[in-house]
Amino acid sequence: MLGNMMFQPLLISNMIEHAGRYHADSLVISKNTDLSITETTWGQVHENSKRFANALQALGAVQGDRIATIAWNNHRHLESWYAISGSGMVCHTINPRLFPEQLVFIINDADDKVLLFDKTFLPLVKAVKPMLKCVEHYICLDAPDSAVTEQLPDVLFYDDVIAQQSTQYTWPVLDELSASSLCYTSGTTGNPKGVLYSHRSTVLHSYAICMPDSLNISARDIMLPVVPMFHVNAWGTPYAAAMVGCTLVLPGPGLDGASLVHLIDTFKVSVALGVPTIWQGLINAALQTGTTLESLKRNVVGGSACPPAMLQIFKEKFDCETIHAWGMTETSPLGSSCQFKAKHQSLSDEEKLKIRLSQGRPPFGVDLRLTDEEKGTHELERDGHASGNLQIKGHWIIQNYFGKAESALTSDGWFDTGDIATLDADGYLKISDRSKDLIKSGGEWISSVELENLAMGHPKIAMAAVIAAIHPKWDERPILIAIKKAETDLSEAELLDYYADKVAKWQIPDKVIFVNSIPLSGTGKMLKKDLRELYGNVLLNS
Ligand code: AMP
Repeated sequence: MLGNMMFQPLLISNMIEHAGRYHADSLVISKNTDLSITETTWGQVHENSKRFANALQALGAVQGDRIATIAWNNHRHLESWYAISGSGMVCHTINPRLFPEQLVFIINDADDKVLLFDKTFLPLVKAVKPMLKCVEHYICLDAPDSAVTEQLPDVLFYDDVIAQQSTQYTWPVLDELSASSLCYTSGTTGNPKGVLYSHRSTVLHSYAICMPDSLNISARDIMLPVVPMFHVNAWGTPYAAAMVGCTLVLPGPGLDGASLVHLIDTFKVSVALGVPTIWQGLINAALQTGTTLESLKRNVVGGSACPPAMLQIFKEKFDCETIHAWGMTETSPLGSSCQFKAKHQSLSDEEKLKIRLSQGRPPFGVDLRLTDEEKGTHELERDGHASGNLQIKGHWIIQNYFGKAESALTSDGWFDTGDIATLDADGYLKISDRSKDLIKSGGEWISSVELENLAMGHPKIAMAAVIAAIHPKWDERPILIAIKKAETDLSEAELLDYYADKVAKWQIPDKVIFVNSIPLSGTGKMLKKDLRELYGNVLLNS
């Protein structure tokens, strides 16, 4: 027997309608590319999103079309992403820090019809345009500017485009399983892979991140997502912000510590979200200016492990509670967040700190398990000690990559994260290592395999391994362990120089260590874990 309750599909358009109707006067404060500040409201964002939905239709875009954005977190970007997803198109947010070849690959792979971009990224757009097969319209997220038109003659301007359109637009009633947005993630080898979110997964994820035991977001918050909208949809926060109607502060290109201090203190930000590198910058700037960041009650650290000292500084110097969270592009991203249970309240500060350093426990809606590397899907104990492959399943977890028919899941339906972890009986997760061959530098991925393959292509190199070394500023940086071919001469500088025209500058290893041998497993694989034990700390004292 079925229940007798109404069915409504879970849609992103419902969120912006809700914010526009019930939180019309809540502010959306936004730093523009020229660093000026625009104050707008959810009511205005709602209206402009409808205008832009009309504009996309007028340009001939239809449901299912991919619309790309290369932009910082700002109000035009926010309006356009509600317009795109709300009208049944797919919002493809692109990381501008990618190497141009990768950018071209993902735009062509996604088959993007329209490309929206911040003026800052004009040189990048101009450089890749000749290689883009699919883009029919380029829209600069700004007011008309002849300097841009000179360089990109057919360009349209967002302010112009929406000014010509009406706010009358009826959001289509879509199947809740329809695609809503697309983010690419680095593959361990080869090209980046697309993760295609649905309306349903996005709405359910938004409910989950607002819950008190997750990020605890409410209408009383003033939220600053420092994490970019191209990094897993700013961890879903702009959706959650519309859902609860909180004030949103969008930092634009100003991600440095001083700019963030200014935004937090000026607009009384209560909760901010970002990767550890961002917080390091904020801490340094705040200590320099002497501000206590009085309004900041919570900050969310994710993307990389939160260093213990960071938790303590936020608590002791800024009276700010740090929520350590774990997730991935493939998991929308929230997989776990660290909040106490009732039984923890009476623990000593030291014991509490131990819990807070874990990545926390999963919210309702996702499930975590550990499996033994040797035994495939054999599940390990949740005892806080057994360490294994971290696997996840749930309402907002990937099933297969964009354009790939084959499932991304294990034979029994779990997604293997590539992280190595422990879980305790309460579900608290501790990430201890990573099995995927990726290095995370300042929140951005670097493929160790790609760097190794390039080094192996050098005529004087016999064998090369690239590992993540711990770095005080960037969390991790690549270092290259290499064996030279017999009777050849090669310096560190020459080898690093070899990368210059092959990868983006920030992906070039920080150091080369020449060795006579690299430890190998029984099957001939390089034992990177051993290399990390030997050389993982070499950048700490340099
Ligand atoms: P991305 O898809 O770029 O968001 O990266 C996801 C990966 O970042 C995870 O699989 C982890 O390897 C790493 N990661 C994310 N959050 C954390 C965290 N809190 N602690 C340690 N590693 C993390």
